[in-house]
Amino acid sequence: MHDYAIVGGGIVGAAVALTLSERYPGVDCVLIEKETGWGRHQTGRNIGVIHSGIYYPAGSLKAKLCRAAGDSLVAFCEQHGIAYERTGKLIVATRERELPALDGLVERGLSNGLAVRRVGADEAREVEPHVRCLAAVVVPSAGIVDFAQVCEKYVQLAEKSGVEVRLGSRVESIRPVMGGYRLGLAHGDVACRYLINCAGLQSDRVAIMGGAEPGARIVPFRGEYFELEPDRRHLVNHLIYPVPDPNFPFLGVHFTRSITGAVHAGPNAVLAFAREGYQKSDIDLKDLAE
Ligand SMILES: Cc1cc2nc3c(=O)[nH]c(=O)nc-3n(C[C@H](O)[C@H](O)[C@H](O)COP(=O)(O)OP(=O)(O)OC[C@H]3O[C@@H](n4cnc5c(N)ncnc54)[C@H](O)[C@@H]3O)c2cc1C
Repeated sequence: MHDYAIVGGGIVGAAVALTLSERYPGVDCVLIEKETGWGRHQTGRNIGVIHSGIYYPAGSLKAKLCRAAGDSLVAFCEQHGIAYERTGKLIVATRERELPALDGLVERGLSNGLAVRRVGADEAREVEPHVRCLAAVVVPSAGIVDFAQVCEKYVQLAEKSGVEVRLGSRVESIRPVMGGYRLGLAHGDVACRYLINCAGLQSDRVAIMGGAEPGARIVPFRGEYFELEPDRRHLVNHLIYPVPDPNFPFLGVHFTRSITGAVHAGPNAVLAFAREGYQKSDIDLKDLAE
């Protein structure tokens, strides 16, 4: 029986596997992923921003963890030769009514220990020549990275430290047994004392399979982005965000540069007909029925 079985080989599962193997040398741990590669879902399909934590309430755990995670991620990339860039980010107010919220963000950023600064329209244009705004906040610590690459490296290091890794192994059932759980996989079984659910978009289903009631269900939304033509990439040098509208749980449509140089504008939020559907035509009847 393994000590730990981790379900889900996205960045969270991979990080948990690596941390367990480093913190408890010799631990008997298995990382189980249903796809044939690591980080194929949210981890490999996000916009690659290293967030600063500016949006989170001052002193909150989220703010502290976000800042600490950004710093440790950058240190990890340095150590392992993974490309990243501290591009910095500009949050721009384009309407008078957004100015109080912009000032609130500056205050939050400063009390979260970030070296943010408020700039007027002219200075904003010096930083980002094609921006037109009334005022902006500059957040130097925000950056970009390819999270799929980070995830791959986590798995590689975890495996080197003794973690057993299994690709192409969907967890199809979970049964409590004496002293732990027995997981039914697509091919064979795995027994463990502790089960760690890192199944991302399927995590509520995995929790229910394991006999827990998560109290929340995943309702899939797809965020769609446009990509700027290569000869227009020079228009965007930093990450450029609007002042978030407090009526929506999103950061608003923004411009982001990826580590490959591509510039994206988005996202919108479209109710999706499949949890792991990335095209308009992707429909999963089970997901739809829920
Ligand atoms: C559009 C978008 C943009 C984002 N942009 C950013 C950003 O710029 N910066 C940022 O920090 N965050 C961003 N995020 C959030 C970030 O991508 C996620 O928080 C993170 O990737 C979650 O990782 P995860 O490992 O929990 O999930 P996932 O990467 O989805 O991994 C879960 C894994 O579990 C596996 N799995 C599921 N069920 C089973 C099963 N039964 N058996 C075996 N394996 C299973 C899946 O195949 C999958 O590989 C963004 C998210 C979205 C959707």
